[in-house]
Order: sequence, then C-alpha cells, then structure tokens
Amino acid sequence: MNPDASPEVPDDEPAPQAALGDLPADDFRAAMHRVADLVADYLEDVGERPVMSRAEPGELSSALSAEAPRHPEDIDQVLDDVQRLVEPGITHWNHPGFLGYFAISGSGPGILGEALAAAFNVNAMVWRTSPAATELERRVCAWLQRLLELPEGFAGHINDTASTSTLVALTAARDAALEGSVRHRGLAGRDDLGPLVIYTSDQAHSSVDKAAIVLGIGLDNVRRIATDEAFRMDPRALAAAVQEDRAAGRLPLAVMPTVGTTSTTAIDPVAEVAAVARQEDLWMHVDGAYGGIAAICPEHRAAMAGIEAADSMVVNPHKWLFTPIDCSVLFVRDEPALKRTFSLVPEYLKTQGGDTHLMDLGFQLGRRFRALKLWMVIRTFGVEGLQARIREHCRLARLLASWVEDDPDFEMSAPVPLSLVCFRARQDDPFNEELLARVNAAGPVLLSHTKLRDRYVLRAAVGNIRTTEDHIRQAWELIRTTAAELDREAGRES
Ligand code: PLP
Repeated sequence: MNPDASPEVPDDEPAPQAALGDLPADDFRAAMHRVADLVADYLEDVGERPVMSRAEPGELSSALSAEAPRHPEDIDQVLDDVQRLVEPGITHWNHPGFLGYFAISGSGPGILGEALAAAFNVNAMVWRTSPAATELERRVCAWLQRLLELPEGFAGHINDTASTSTLVALTAARDAALEGSVRHRGLAGRDDLGPLVIYTSDQAHSSVDKAAIVLGIGLDNVRRIATDEAFRMDPRALAAAVQEDRAAGRLPLAVMPTVGTTSTTAIDPVAEVAAVARQEDLWMHVDGAYGGIAAICPEHRAAMAGIEAADSMVVNPHKWLFTPIDCSVLFVRDEPALKRTFSLVPEYLKTQGGDTHLMDLGFQLGRRFRALKLWMVIRTFGVEGLQARIREHCRLARLLASWVEDDPDFEMSAPVPLSLVCFRARQDDPFNEELLARVNAAGPVLLSHTKLRDRYVLRAAVGNIRTTEDHIRQAWELIRTTAAELDREAGRES
C-alpha cells in the first residue's frame, strides 16, 4: 500500500451520531455556566493582574500543540487551557489601569450582547436573512445620529472598524466625483483623469493612507496639511493646497478633518474645513472614531461645530462607548451614493421584503449582528449614564493634567480637549522611553507614546469604564517615583 495515500473513508456508511453534531446540550449548558463564572471573575479581578502581558515572544506558540487534535477533547480541558495558556498572553485592555492607545471597554451589557450575537449567529447581509439585525442596526444608528445632532437625512450603518468605514466613505467620494465611471472602467490606463488627491492633517490616522493605497489614489496623493500649535488642521493651508493641485491638473476629491486625533485628540476646525470643502466641491469625511463620541455630551458639541456639514462621519462605539471591539458606525448624508457605488445583487441574493439591505452599503457581504451589543449598552446605561461616564473620563484627564502641570519635573505636550493627556518628563527622549518601559513593566498601569514635533511623548488615555480616580492617582504616583528613580540612577552614573 502506498503510505502517502489517504486512508480509505467509506462513504456509504453513516458515522455514529455520537461523532456528529454540536456539543451536547447539557455539556454546553454546563460549559456556558463555567464561562459565565470565568467572565464575571475575570471582570471582578482583572485589576489585580499586571496590565501588560509578561509573555515572551513565542512563549505561547511553543506551549501550543503543533498539530490540530485528531480526536475530540473535553470542553472543560479546553477551558482549562484558556486559563493556563491563553490568559498569560493577554494584555488586559479591560483593566482599569489600561491607559494606552485609546483605552476601550468591553462593558457588561456589551459582553452579553456579543455572546447573544454569537448564539444567534445571523448573517445580516440582507433584510430577509435576519430582519431584526437590519432593523435594530438602523434604529440604534438613528439614536446615535440624534445624539450627535447630525441632521435628518443622514443614515448610519455599522462596520467592523473605522478603517473600513473610512475606506467605504472614500470609495463613495471617489465615485461621486467621477460620476460612477470608476465602477465600470476602473482607474488603470485612464488618460482622461489626472491624479486624484485627498486632504487630511499631518496628525490624521494612518487609516486614511491605507484607504488611499486600496483605492488607487496612492500615498503620494495624500496631502498632509500642516497643523497649528494645538495640532489642528490649518484651513488656509488646506485651501492653498487644493488650489495648487487644481492648477497642476490634479483632481481634488475629499478632505478628512479629525475630531480627536490619535496622537493628541486635537479637534480640527471642522466648520472652517467645511467651508473650504463647499467652496472646492470636496467630499468631507469627518474622522470622529474616538472623539466624535464625546459629541453626545452637549458641552462637547460646540467644539465640534461643523460635523453636521459632513458628507460622511465615522464614530467608533468600540472606542469610547463601552461596546466590545469591533463596532464602527458610518453616517452618510447621501446614502444612495453608497448604493450606487457598492450595490450588486446576484441572483442568489435576490430576496423579498425590506427596503434596506446592508450588503448594499459596502464591499462586505457577510455582516455580524453588531447592533445587538450596542443597543444593549445604550439601553442599560441610558444616554445620561453614557454622558456621565464620558464626563468623568474627561474630568480624570484634566485632573492628571493638573498634576503634570504642577510638577516641575514634567511638562504637558498638548492641550487636553477630551480624555487624553500627552506629557513628558523634562528630560531627553531616551529618558522618556525608559520611563515608559519601566512604568509599563511595573504592572498596574499601561501607557503608550507618540512623537510630537519630533519629541517622544507619553500618552495616558482615560477611556476604560472601570477606571476611577484611584487608578489615575496610582498611575501618576508610579510615573513620578519611576522618573525620580531613573534620575537618581543617571546621577550616580555621571
Ligand atoms: N481614526 C482615529 C482618529 C483613530 O484613532 C483610529 C484608531 O485608533 C482609527 C481611525 C482607526 O480605527 P480602527 O481601528 O477602528 O480602524
């Protein structure tokens, strides 16, 4: 017999039932109870663990079996391994001391919604494939639209991430500007078109560049407009850049102001950018992935004046609305433009009923039931509860900023319009880098960093639902004492 030949599988005998089907109902129930306890215990004591995983590269890989198990394993054994093997490799984003990047939250109601969505396991591609998924998504987006005070007429839908939402919006912007000709003729070999150009600030997120890569716009045609001393886009520089491009025969397409930039949460002057967009006939896509959520609080809405003039806007409930990742809402003023860009209905997707089919609004067909967790979060906390939590995060950030300002060994690196504090020790970059590494290695806190005007800066982002004033106080104490220790070491060495 040839040893390489696959073993013969008889195809005329049914396999025994015990070898088929899902986990038996009783085993599932018992495992679900165990998972419920595991999750509740995790959320209760996550604050006791070091935030940053202490795993070494490859540690988990070497503990995992190289081959998939040939025979069924007991679900309890699998759950044991989640705790034994997987948990040590988790960096705890749900930890109250997580202050890195943009701190996010898997809140209780969000986790429950995620679990239910997995159980229903619907694919929300068209209305008929799950009416509740489509209608709940529409309703929950309409709630958010009102809370953000976007005008009637906007329509929202949910994507996985802001990167996808921005890509989708820019695709529609490209097609609107070129009157749909790209959809059929593409971009390659078009000598009737000059280069397409998009505009954003020198502080905007890299998802804009990625969209330019995907859309055939090209990185060389992303204009990074200069920012002022508070890292906000300069609308005059924007207008000048657009005019220069037009004069050179290029085709300006869209401008993307940010409400809450990634490095500092700067809020671009959206109303002034909108005026340039109107004048120059550009699509304006507002990136409010993180900061846009704050507009549900009336006191933050004024700083974001102009968002109502957007052609599209993205906000991420998975960043600052306590909804487990992933959940990004894209609002569009002219939703039929999205349909003109993306809608394709092959025979096998033709269905009866419903006037919204989410597959028409982007390039993905399959869609998770993300609206359920967002609906459960908004209902369980209520608008006032959400506003109170966002306000508290902003208060905590201002408190930390006041401590930084009062300490002669530290300096602030950017204003604090929302809940992020950018600061540094009054030392050189290597000192600040070492400070960050030591603080993060200590356990109770995780910060991240950025570079501003070429200087290394520490970022403390308040955004996790479990973070309290005690955590911020503890973080500051750790930062201060670690800097003093580093300073002493440097003194001894010199
Ligand atoms: N826009 C801004 C301002 C961001 O800060 C981020 C990520 O932090 C993004 C877009 C991309 O978000 P996502 O990870 O949802 O694609």
